Amino acid sequence: MTGTGLLLEGGTVYDGLGNPGRVADVALAAGRVVAVGGDPPAGLRRVDCSGLAVAPGFVDTHAHSDLVHLRDQPQPFKLFQGVTTEVVGNCGLTFAPLDAGSAEVAATLWSSLAGGVPIEPAGFAELAGRLDRAGPANNLALLVGHNTLRLTANGLEERLRPGAAEAMAALAAEAFQAGAVGLSSGLIYVPGSYASTGELVALARVAAAYGGTYATHMRDEGANLEAALEEAVTIAGTAGTRLQVSHCKASGPAAHGHAGRLLERLAAARLAGVDAQGDQYPYDAGATVLSALLPPAVAAGGPEAMRAHLRDPAARAALRATAEGGQVGNGSWAETDPDGVLLTGHRDPAVVGRTLAEAAGGRDPWDALCDLVADDPSASIVLRLMREDDVRAIMASPLVGVGSDNGPPSGLEHPRTWGCFPRLLGRYVREQQVLTWEQAVRKATWLGARQFRLDGRGLLVEGAVADLCVFDPATVGHEGTYLDPDTGVTGIEHVLLAGEPVVEGGRYTGRRAGRVLRGPGWHGPTEAAR
Ligand SMILES: [Zn+2]
Repeated sequence: MTGTGLLLEGGTVYDGLGNPGRVADVALAAGRVVAVGGDPPAGLRRVDCSGLAVAPGFVDTHAHSDLVHLRDQPQPFKLFQGVTTEVVGNCGLTFAPLDAGSAEVAATLWSSLAGGVPIEPAGFAELAGRLDRAGPANNLALLVGHNTLRLTANGLEERLRPGAAEAMAALAAEAFQAGAVGLSSGLIYVPGSYASTGELVALARVAAAYGGTYATHMRDEGANLEAALEEAVTIAGTAGTRLQVSHCKASGPAAHGHAGRLLERLAAARLAGVDAQGDQYPYDAGATVLSALLPPAVAAGGPEAMRAHLRDPAARAALRATAEGGQVGNGSWAETDPDGVLLTGHRDPAVVGRTLAEAAGGRDPWDALCDLVADDPSASIVLRLMREDDVRAIMASPLVGVGSDNGPPSGLEHPRTWGCFPRLLGRYVREQQVLTWEQAVRKATWLGARQFRLDGRGLLVEGAVADLCVFDPATVGHEGTYLDPDTGVTGIEHVLLAGEPVVEGGRYTGRRAGRVLRGPGWHGPTEAAR
């Protein structure tokens, strides 16, 4: 294949809008789709797509690949899944804007997301420019994280210092002018967890002024799921932003069976004029830092204070009472069980690949947890949280798209990092028919592109950007497991970025054809001048 002038012949075309597939030739020229069906322009190079599905490239609305694309080697792990654009900077955790002090704290708390890339002080425009120049394997759209804004403006303190709210707003505005597509929050992580609803409304107003979206990892996804969703809707509704509820789930026994309530509330928000939708990864386990099992207050005062706190028996007991007390936002301890927590990253390699129950040996798992976090505050886990009927109910909703919530593509990460989109198609469309092909493609493409204003992407119509994925419905899938997560994807045949083939016959071409897609607030040079 060549970079321009292709004719994808004889495939079944899914437009991303949810229309049924139809067999048609797709003509591409100068980075755009120039014809779907009808008589194609002459002189195009033909690519046989018979028996294959031709879809818009997938949009991963919930990614954490912020820094991994700065590695020396290109990182095609999302391209192999058919993903052409990742929305990064989710859960309030971004690697800009950071100053010397906040970069140091971020390196302690969030290094498991950085994939070995140094966490350094950087303004938002600076990091966006570095990513763009590095040439990511796929396109990136950047969110600015509330946790990062707060860390830089106010440190890890709970109360905002005089001027800190204004400083956060100014930093957020700079990020939007540098092309951020939205504001993210992660309200289970310090210091974001300290924020009042009003603090978040004020920052969401900045997002609204620049046409940005508010994406939130809510305060609670378990017993207090509905109260947390209410807050998210209030923030977006008051500020006037679109709302993206991140990794929708009903987490832990107190919430199991409640997926329907989440979906009803999303629908009610839309009826009340809030442009609300969500994303989901198709698994019953999540992944996060080990410390997320603890009440977030444990991290007050920074890593050293946290270590001391965790080693004090009285403080441990008090924390446990809080964790088991059922109040909003007190960590995920009550949402899982020690057998359901797999340690995937820890400075002690002897515990990696073991469950918390196994690592505890005969000890009380709570004590083991406190010791393990004290030893490595950025240790990471995969944890069982969801019930399959809730996963399917959320998946069946047309208001919920797809977001992998990936980690760096190395080591023992959640299999979603390598296989989220192929698994959705293989397991939940072909094998279990939870969705039709056209529904699944819509959720994986246009639904996310519209919510983050990725104009011209996520749909396959004449004039759209030719970010495309060609897959084999008979074989698409991913068999990765929690203990063997990085097995190869099957059935993703061709992936194109602006008409340029980057995966051909399932093989990465080695081209770094991705770029940073700037949001509507972008004050930089126009497209033509770049
Ligand atoms: Zn999250």
